[in-house]
Amino acid sequence: MTNHILFLAHPDESGTAFPKSAYESLGAAVALAQQLRAALTIGLIGANIQPLADSIAAASPKILAVIGPEFSQPRSSTDARAAEALARAANADLILTPATSRFLRALPVLAQRLNGRVDTHVSSLRLVNGNLTATRWFYRQRIEGTFQRTERPWIVLLDSGCHEPWNGTPAANAAVEQISVALSPELQRTSVTGIRAPKSDTQTIRPDAHLLFVAGAGWTKKQSDGRTHPEEAEKLILEFLRTSGASLGGSKSLVDQSGENQTVLAFMTHLNQVGQTGATPRHPKGLSTCCHGEEPHVVGWRFINDRRAINLDPNCGWARGKADVLYVANAFEVIAKLNELLVQRAKEKEQSAVASD
Ligand SMILES: Cc1cc2nc3c(=O)[nH]c(=O)nc-3n(C[C@H](O)[C@H](O)[C@H](O)COP(=O)(O)OP(=O)(O)OC[C@H]3O[C@@H](n4cnc5c(N)ncnc54)[C@H](O)[C@@H]3O)c2cc1C
Repeated sequence: MTNHILFLAHPDESGTAFPKSAYESLGAAVALAQQLRAALTIGLIGANIQPLADSIAAASPKILAVIGPEFSQPRSSTDARAAEALARAANADLILTPATSRFLRALPVLAQRLNGRVDTHVSSLRLVNGNLTATRWFYRQRIEGTFQRTERPWIVLLDSGCHEPWNGTPAANAAVEQISVALSPELQRTSVTGIRAPKSDTQTIRPDAHLLFVAGAGWTKKQSDGRTHPEEAEKLILEFLRTSGASLGGSKSLVDQSGENQTVLAFMTHLNQVGQTGATPRHPKGLSTCCHGEEPHVVGWRFINDRRAINLDPNCGWARGKADVLYVANAFEVIAKLNELLVQRAKEKEQSAVASD
């Protein structure tokens, strides 16, 4: 039986907003609560909770929070304590949360403490013949499994991009019941002193981007003039990423070259690799360039809805039912033209914004 659902969330690194995936998990929690006729409680962990609570108060009248500067840090020991207090106060038998790296670390501890069960990377949770049923992918996203659990509480971390986000109207001064949690000094031994991250314009993996742009080894191969053009390739790709905001993926052949410290596409790492032995990102659209579209690569495109490819070879893998559209063309020329159009569009937007001011 599932009578009490707890939606658990924390702010993102800014401390003032939720991560996008929190709205998606909240959407799933609201839908499930309606289907199960279960009570929905919102549980929040962080330092400055009121504006966050206001923004989602329309989803449930019951909001509990563990508040304090010591809970602003992404620290497994304090997050697990806070989550435990919220779960007990809500008498939760189902705990739904976004699969943020913070909760992925802390919530397995919660399952242990509550003698419950936890499942990570869940892609959906729905009722099948009246039973709560989860789905998730196994074996490098090749097999989709469905399963149920009888143990409660059941803690479910939902992957991002799997549910429509909740988008109700924000409220003002939502009632928040504060749950107090005593922390012993050893729980606060770890302290986050800062975050080292690449500048956002050098960050090429952008999970929230509308478009996945894949670069293949063709960018580094000899072209019709008998020469390679790595500098031009690098310039064109970086310019495209900057103007389009796309996320960058690579084929294995290309990222392996970068690993060998060749000068070619220095910004490309194994983290960019898409495919059987790489990532399976989720984006509404994908554009493959200079990549042959072999099965071990394309298997990583499972969650890309609209697939397009640019390749000189009309018999490449993309032409065999793997892409919705294949442009048989030189990617160097196509991307140069696209960059020109994107820059022009950005200028026009800027001018019309100035004109409307
Ligand atoms: C066990 C196993 C696991 C693997 N896992 C992965 C994986 O996770 N991800 C992955 O990507 N691969 C994986 N592979 C490798 C995969 O089979 C391919 O070898 C790899 O994807 C090929 O990369 P590519 O298409 O970029 O390079 P290539 O096969 O060299 O293709 C380059 C393409 O660029 C095109 N081209 C060249 N110049 C231009 C131009 N100017 N304009 C347009 N097109 C141009 C060519 O026509 C060609 O089709 C795996 C293989 C094995 C055996």
